[in-house]
Amino acid sequence: MKKSNILVIGSLNMDWIIEVDHTPIAGETLLGHFAKEVPGGKGANQAYAASSLGGHVTMLGAVGKDPSGEKLLQSLQKAGVNTSPIQANSETGSGMAIIYLNKMGNNSIVVLPNANNTVTKEVIMAHDELFKIADIIMLQLEIPLEAVYEAAALAHKYHKTIILNPAPAISHLPNEILSKIDYITPNETELSTLTNQPVTTVDDAIIAAQTLLLSGVKHVITTLGEKGAILVTLEEARHFPALSVKAIDTTAAGDSFNGALAVYLAEGKSIEEAIVFGNQVAAITVTREGAQSSIPFREEILPTTE
Ligand code: ATP
Repeated sequence: MKKSNILVIGSLNMDWIIEVDHTPIAGETLLGHFAKEVPGGKGANQAYAASSLGGHVTMLGAVGKDPSGEKLLQSLQKAGVNTSPIQANSETGSGMAIIYLNKMGNNSIVVLPNANNTVTKEVIMAHDELFKIADIIMLQLEIPLEAVYEAAALAHKYHKTIILNPAPAISHLPNEILSKIDYITPNETELSTLTNQPVTTVDDAIIAAQTLLLSGVKHVITTLGEKGAILVTLEEARHFPALSVKAIDTTAAGDSFNGALAVYLAEGKSIEEAIVFGNQVAAITVTREGAQSSIPFREEILPTTE
């Protein structure tokens, strides 16, 4: 089978997961139960997922010249990701995230970008060659926006397929960028923030996604947690229910879903097949702790009839 090349441009963060009974509210001091350090960052998680699921993956990003940076690179390399374009910056530490994981399995996250902020527009422009040899470009919003915009422009210039996971949530993306995107993959909150519309039901998500289509984006795939995902295009609006599992930690659910989409698209499968696969992969991810540590390998996914 011919496999296309996937290029991920984005963040690498060392995640500190702190287990708490409930998510602390403003002014509250809380005793945590347990803290552990696991490799994460939306870009790195998506690269890790796509590679673990069988994709040919290269990542462009930055870490600090510190022990976290080394661990972040090692984790990706172990999953088979080509990390050679990732810069180790001596001026700043590696990106980090503090994750409060509550008893319900829900998380709240604070991210410190650090080295991720050194992935500038100029860095993207200096890696023009990577865009030429890639087929699918995966973007998120944890590096400077001007770098994301430049990456979308370069990918579009070379007629590559672009998947944009618009996370963390942002209230506006210029139409000039959205019109270049083949697949945008917000969760409910991100879709609501992006369109300034309430998104609590599947119907709300369809209506909000339809407004995004007006900006020229070709497919809107909204992930709805335990409700699965919906695909909205000019031709259809289709709901793909999630698998029924006991979620213990939703960290990297969306990232593994995105990695799965990219891998199936890279293998020439339809977007509908890719979403079914994404739901399968993400359902396993939520039954395990951590970010990259929770992402399954291809062999763990049972074939479906879809
Ligand atoms: P995160 O930011 O935690 O990585 P997200 O908010 O980007 O995740 P979600 O919409 O919560 O993404 O979930 C992504 C996908 O994960 C869903 O479309 C679904 O396939 C799967 N998923 C999430 N939660 C559950 C659950 N409780 N049961 C089954 N599947 C789930």
